[in-house]
Amino acid sequence: MTEADGGTHSSRTWLEVDLSAVVHNYRRAVELASGSAVWPVVKADGYGLGAVEISSRLAAEGADGFCVATVEEGIALRQGGVTQPVVVMAGFFPGQERLLARWNLHTFLFRLSDAKRLTSALAEDDRVGVFVKVDTGMARLGCVFEEGVAILEALENSNRVTVMGITSHLACADALDNPETRRQVDRFRRFLQHPVVKGHRLRNSLANSAGVMGWPESHFDWVRPGIMLYGGSPFFPDLLAAEAGLKPVVTWRSRVVQIQPMPPLMPLGYGHAFTPKRPSRIAWLGVGYGDGYSRRLGNRARVVADGARLPVVGRVCMDLTAVDVTDHPEVRVGSTACLLGSERMASVDIEELALLLDTIPYEIICDIGGRVERHYVG
Ligand SMILES: *Cc1c(COP(=O)(O)O)cnc(C)c1O
Repeated sequence: MTEADGGTHSSRTWLEVDLSAVVHNYRRAVELASGSAVWPVVKADGYGLGAVEISSRLAAEGADGFCVATVEEGIALRQGGVTQPVVVMAGFFPGQERLLARWNLHTFLFRLSDAKRLTSALAEDDRVGVFVKVDTGMARLGCVFEEGVAILEALENSNRVTVMGITSHLACADALDNPETRRQVDRFRRFLQHPVVKGHRLRNSLANSAGVMGWPESHFDWVRPGIMLYGGSPFFPDLLAAEAGLKPVVTWRSRVVQIQPMPPLMPLGYGHAFTPKRPSRIAWLGVGYGDGYSRRLGNRARVVADGARLPVVGRVCMDLTAVDVTDHPEVRVGSTACLLGSERMASVDIEELALLLDTIPYEIICDIGGRVERHYVG
C-alpha cells in the first residue's frame, strides 16, 4: 500500500518478476529431468516477462542453452549478453541464413528446401548447427520421416551446417491420460533407430514442460521447459501450479490514480456498466486493456488492495480500471493494488484469470503489455 511496495513514484503499473522463483522452478525442471540437459524456453520475450533478464539469471544457474521462436529473439539474447547456445525453434526466413551464423544461433530445420537454401546461402566460414525436426503427431512444423532422412543425407558432407540432433514436439502431453504422448515417443524412437539417423552422434529433444513434469519417457538428451519456469502449470486446470511444486513468479501492480465518491444509484464509467447500490468509494487504477488487462475482466475479476480481494467494477478502459474500495478507507490516491500476486492473506493468481478468461496461464502472462514496466526482484 505504500511506496515500499516497489516501483517508482511515477509508475502507474508495473510487474515484479521474482527471479528467485524462476530459479526455483528451473531447479524443479532440472530435478525432474535428471540426466537430461535443460534448455529453458524464453520465446515471446520470456513469455512476456523478459527474455534477457531471465536467461542471464538461468545461465548463472547453469542452464545448458536457451530456446527462442525467431531469429530476432535469438539476436536479442546475444545483444543482451547471453553466451550459452541458443536455438531458433520456429525456423528462419529467406535472407536470415547468415544471421544465424553471425549471431551463433542454432536452428530447427523441418524442410529439405530450407536445408539446401541454408547450405548455399552461408559463406565459406559460416557455421550453423541444426536440429532436424520431424513430425511425430503435432502436424505443425515437423517433416515426415522420409524428408528428415533426406535432410540428414543432404547435410552429410556440409562443413557449414552441422546436424546436432533430432527434435519433435508433443501435441497432447498436457492431458496425462492421453495415450497419444506414448505413441509420439514411440514414433520418435523409431525415427532415431533409422540407419541414417543412428550413424550420427546426436543430442535429441522432445519434451516441453508437460513432458518434463508428466512423461519421463519423453526426456531424451535435452528438454525444453517453458511455462513451468514462469510458474504456470502445463496441466491447468487439472493440476495447479502450487500442487505441482511451482512458485508464482509474477506480481502485477497498479497505482490508484483517482478516488471517486459515488452516491447510490449513480452509474459509473463507459456504458454505465456498474451502478452502486450504496454510497461507495471507487478507486480508478492506472491500468487497462492497453496494458493487457483484458476488457473481459470488467465486472468479473478481483484485485488485491489493502490485503483484501476487491471487485473490479464496470468496464475495463484502455488506461484505467475501477475497483470498489468502499470498505477500505486506507486505499487512497497513490496506493497500489495487485492485479496478480498476493498481499498479506489475499491473492489473485494467473490461474484465476485464466479461468475467468477461458484460456490458459500462458496467454495471461504473454498478454501483459509492453507499457507495463518490468522490475526484477529476488
Ligand atoms: C513453446 C515451446 C516449448 C515450451 O512449451 P511449454 O509448454 O511452455 O513448456 C517447447 N518446444 C517448442 C517447440 C515450443 O514451441
